[in-house]
Amino acid sequence: MNDTGTPHVSESETPEADLKDRARRVLQHLDAVLPDVDALYGDLHEHPELSGEEAHTAAEVARRLAATGYEVSQGVGGHGVVGVLCNGEGPTVLLRGDMDALPVEEKTGLPYASHVTTKDGVPVMHACGHDVHTACLVGTAALLARSRDAWRGTVMVVGQPAEETLTGALAMLEDGLYARFGTPDAVLGQHTAPLPVGTFMHREGVTMMGATSVRIRLFGRGAHGAQPELSVDPVVLGASVVLRLQTIVSRELSPLEAAVVSVGHFQAGNRANVIPDEALLELTVRTEDGAVMARVLAAIERIAKGESLASGSPKPPQVEVVASTPVNRNDPALIRRVRAAHAEWFGQDALVPGVLATASEDFPFFARGPERPVPTAYWYVGITPLKTWAEAPGETPLEKVSHVPGPHSPFYAPDRAGSLRRGCESLTVAALACLHGGNTPTHH
Ligand SMILES: [Zn+2]
Ligand SMILES: [Zn+2]
Repeated sequence: MNDTGTPHVSESETPEADLKDRARRVLQHLDAVLPDVDALYGDLHEHPELSGEEAHTAAEVARRLAATGYEVSQGVGGHGVVGVLCNGEGPTVLLRGDMDALPVEEKTGLPYASHVTTKDGVPVMHACGHDVHTACLVGTAALLARSRDAWRGTVMVVGQPAEETLTGALAMLEDGLYARFGTPDAVLGQHTAPLPVGTFMHREGVTMMGATSVRIRLFGRGAHGAQPELSVDPVVLGASVVLRLQTIVSRELSPLEAAVVSVGHFQAGNRANVIPDEALLELTVRTEDGAVMARVLAAIERIAKGESLASGSPKPPQVEVVASTPVNRNDPALIRRVRAAHAEWFGQDALVPGVLATASEDFPFFARGPERPVPTAYWYVGITPLKTWAEAPGETPLEKVSHVPGPHSPFYAPDRAGSLRRGCESLTVAALACLHGGNTPTHH
């Protein structure tokens, strides 16, 4: 127990030997649970839903959680689903799976490939593996419900919408996730990765960078293309801004401070012979550290203003933050506990050394407890079929990983059976490592 009287995820409660025994007792039901996990995965993969539109996915998750004994609430922060299973004294462990898909046209050629398009003709695909996350979340929930004598505590299952837009986690929290269902003692999340199926990757501390999207409107004065002297050309201004933005990382940060500044969108004008009066830039910024993010954002604003001034702009630029998510920082003790549990269950050889991802997540919002930070742990589950991995050029895992389809690729194709089995195991074992032990079985 900690000073607030709520149960802690303590170091002493789950010695590793006991964990392996409890994991065996829970996972003996895995073969019975997997057919439904596979059915759900097939359904979600063939019928993906974009961020904020996860109605069918949420209903399928809710129905299955209710059927296995969870108290289920729907419509939390959009299409968010929360299932709670109270099973005696012990910590509350939140298991998070994200449910949304991407506007990507699937090119895997799989028999269960998505052919879904939106009303406007936008193709939709589970190109980030969130169908694996959701299916394994439901599978883990079922496994824990079937073996309540092997653990004590409360399991809070969260099917999260709208991860790809970085809005779903925050929407669920703002809709009272912790106020209504309790603040968890630990939050666990996993993501598919283009590593060989059966491998897992954990990183202490920061595991993914923070991300901020910035929009810059630059103002000029329009004129005939033949009379540049009458204009303030926002195309030239914008080009200067783009080039000088590249000096932030190279000239203003230390080589030891990881950051990315990319301009992904530059729009100005419509005709060759018309100098427009405005330019629009959209950027993504990634940093490993919140303080570095603040310095980079300040530098972006300074450069946009300075270049506008140098161009003789009629008014200062508009610089606005469109979306933002903090760095994904694993609680050191919690991720060590999860990694140790995975090493115990899968063997040390199944664990890949952790590398920092420049990709981002809205998972870190779950660390924002009402009174103090909530420990979170986030790890990667390898999903690449072994044959694909073996055929990929390169010697080292780092060389190979860049030659197999990764998240957001139209060719991202997890090994179906292996990913679902390993994903259920990894989430279940991690949950058990955080929950208290159950009753000693009377017979084996
Ligand atoms: Zn994604
Ligand atoms: Zn994702």
